[in-house]
Amino acid sequence: MADKAFNPFKMAQEQFDKVADILELDEATRELLRNPLREYHVSIPVKMDDGTVKVFRGFRVQHNDSRGPAKGGIRFHPHETIDTVKALSTWMTWKCAVVDIPLGGSKGGVICDPHNLSQREQEQLCRGFVRQLAHDVGPLRDVPAPDVMTNAQHMLWMLDEYETIMGAKFPGMITGKPVGMGGSLGRTEATGYGVIYTLREALKNHGVDPKNTTASVQGFGKVAQYAIRLYNQMGGKVIAVSSWDQGEQKSFSYKKATGVDIDELLSVTDRYGGINRPKAMQMGYEVLPGEDWLIQDVDILIPAALENQITGANVQSISKKVRFIAEGANGPTTPEADKVLRERGVFVIPDFLANAGGVTCSYFEQVQCNMNYFWEKDEVLAKLDLKMTSAFHAVSDLAKKKNLYMRDAAYIIAINRVAQACKDRGWV
Ligand code: GLU
Repeated sequence: MADKAFNPFKMAQEQFDKVADILELDEATRELLRNPLREYHVSIPVKMDDGTVKVFRGFRVQHNDSRGPAKGGIRFHPHETIDTVKALSTWMTWKCAVVDIPLGGSKGGVICDPHNLSQREQEQLCRGFVRQLAHDVGPLRDVPAPDVMTNAQHMLWMLDEYETIMGAKFPGMITGKPVGMGGSLGRTEATGYGVIYTLREALKNHGVDPKNTTASVQGFGKVAQYAIRLYNQMGGKVIAVSSWDQGEQKSFSYKKATGVDIDELLSVTDRYGGINRPKAMQMGYEVLPGEDWLIQDVDILIPAALENQITGANVQSISKKVRFIAEGANGPTTPEADKVLRERGVFVIPDFLANAGGVTCSYFEQVQCNMNYFWEKDEVLAKLDLKMTSAFHAVSDLAKKKNLYMRDAAYIIAINRVAQACKDRGWV
């Protein structure tokens, strides 16, 4: 989104084409899987607090639903584009397939900046979005969830609007709901924890003790926060994080060589992961340019912000010390940069595997809603760990056996499963 020339959907198609060649997929299957099944463009009029009406643009894209109802988050972002949403919906299909949950892939987005909207305006936007799409989403069709700058409250407003329109209760219509209102314990932590479950297994495979490692993290939203927390619990030390500064309209990196203190930093962070710069400086953090999270002398990089962050232009500035990259964000590495990482022998845990913890827990949330019986947090997290760990090993075993890059191995498993489902249904 930062770079106008970058087209994430082209990138998603490029990644797909490469694996389609390896798998020798037939033309019809390629045509079906390299494009979304359906895409919706909507206009959402919202009565603003000052009495004027503002019309917001929104998108929902259903990439594939051969393995089950489409599934994917809704993002609020001022630079949202249809091509970003198309790419993200494609990655959702591979994500659900690689962890083998019975769901397809979709994504939504609204062009807006929630920093500039009151709670009431945000509520109207959520309800308006659902009013436009109520008959195209639903528990058996397409199930939204939180993503960049959306949260449990947004999900609950959307659910309430849907149930009002449909005249009945449908708790499985959306996931990431507040706990006590159909949400699952552990859902907030799930994506960040999932990233670290896969990282833990990668370190184990390489005989590396997390206690002897350092990391640098891009982003300070929910994914980054919970990834840092669990990585710290394993004994790892994060020495830098980056965060978006709403006032300056750019990001900064915050460095502490002795290790970032997550609770201390959270006490000066807003609900969107924005760190208060003057306060962080008072706490002894060195403030560096936004991109500097990438050039730190660490063992592990965790991009956990947006797409298109590790690119051909900056990949060479990554320290030679970096041995692992765990992609918490969706699409953070461009194919050009990926080639360099692969040649350097960096062990990359690809986005749609590393960050699949969120949607896996969303699936658990649906299961719990269906039973109307909710598990304890430990039970949710144990099931999540099991799912992520076995998906990681399936991919890394294939990578080892066939001498493949982790991203290619993950794609092979995911695309194979989806292609097979389309075939079994008689679509191709
Ligand atoms: N937005 C998250 C993702 O990109 C979670 C999606 C979901 O729970 O459906 O994976």
